[in-house]
Amino acid sequence: FDELAGTDPEIAEVLLDELDRVRGGLQLIASENLTSPAVLAALGSTLSNKYAEGYPGRRYYGGCAEVDRAEQIGIDRAKALFGAEHANLQPHSGASANLAAYAALVQPGDTVLAMDLPHGGHLTHGSRVNFSGKWFAPVGYQVRPDTEQIDYDEVRELALAHRPKMIICGATAYPRLIDFARFREIADEVDAYLMVDAAHFIGLVAGRAIPSPVPYADVVCATTHKVLRGPRGGMILCRESLAERIDKAVFPFTQGGPLMHSVAAKAVALREAASPAFQAYAAQVVANAQALAAALTAEGMRPVSGGTDTHLALIDLRDVGITGRDAEARCDAAAITLNKNAIPYDPQKPMVASGIRVGTPSVTTQGMGVAEMGRIGELISRAVRTDPAEPGGADALAAIGADVADLVTAFPAYPRG
Ligand code: PLP
Repeated sequence: FDELAGTDPEIAEVLLDELDRVRGGLQLIASENLTSPAVLAALGSTLSNKYAEGYPGRRYYGGCAEVDRAEQIGIDRAKALFGAEHANLQPHSGASANLAAYAALVQPGDTVLAMDLPHGGHLTHGSRVNFSGKWFAPVGYQVRPDTEQIDYDEVRELALAHRPKMIICGATAYPRLIDFARFREIADEVDAYLMVDAAHFIGLVAGRAIPSPVPYADVVCATTHKVLRGPRGGMILCRESLAERIDKAVFPFTQGGPLMHSVAAKAVALREAASPAFQAYAAQVVANAQALAAALTAEGMRPVSGGTDTHLALIDLRDVGITGRDAEARCDAAAITLNKNAIPYDPQKPMVASGIRVGTPSVTTQGMGVAEMGRIGELISRAVRTDPAEPGGADALAAIGADVADLVTAFPAYPRG
């Protein structure tokens, strides 16, 4: 750090300020986490310098013996941890992994059945502003209005009616378990590939906290930086029969040189994820999300689908009479970082939204448990009900921020020294 501060004090200051922000507040964004110093060390290493187009033992550049070792160790760890026949650690991100899966499994113009974005799906699941909606023919499934959970009968009917070449399950804002066996049955019935986008929950699978999609999916795409707690990046697991197509779809079809520092950091994260401590963490992430959903319910805020089985809860704020956008801003002012989120059948525009999404990976990594979730529920409730435009509102939000600071002092993120 001293090197950086000497060379570029401006950027050094940004790094320190960001560390202060993380240390001083509550990080409840469901897709974020606090990576270990070991992962950060690999990320900040000289492996960043190395060009290594290709795969271990088959590179287009010399001098790859060392990075080959890192990538092979990572691949072996991923296969062992997830019981997968093949693993590719090169996707630069979750969206890149998904792009490669499309490239490997379907042709432009093919029909793809996936969850609608406003119901919890991701941009890469057929949004018009994304390659998936522009180059493919997306058909969207939704959640049931009564249960707010996936309607498997509707998925089957849509599959039979549209005969998709690929079906995607896995989402960005869906708090419930997904029945992978049921999706496999539907995919088999219409002879479609099943791609599971496990970006959000692959860490819970690694920690054995929820069932694995690997036995059911043709291809599992994931990110490595969410519950899994690795570096920002992507990963693909698949059957051996699809290995060559997936590898070629990542490189050379959609990417050039891999980020070898990131591949090495993924290997480190996969080692950490294979530990008993990680299993305890994954179970606690879910217990904490359930406790937080219950705490928010007690404060008059409704969890979509009635609760959660995973690391996140989607909270409908309409009973409180506040939008997701305002709730996010008020929480921000109280050092509570979370995001506004559309709820199923949301009457508001996406940039306003009727809900918020809260996730527990970061606070669990900090060592917080069920008792702290009750406290966080109260703090969120106070924040969303405090209008900064009212007299004394801004001071009240600052006071909540001070209570947040008190809470997090006992659970430091990146302890000093
Ligand atoms: N797929 C799902 C389900 C996601 O939630 C996300 C990100 O939030 C992605 C893919 C994309 O990951 P990235 O932001 O790394 O491209």
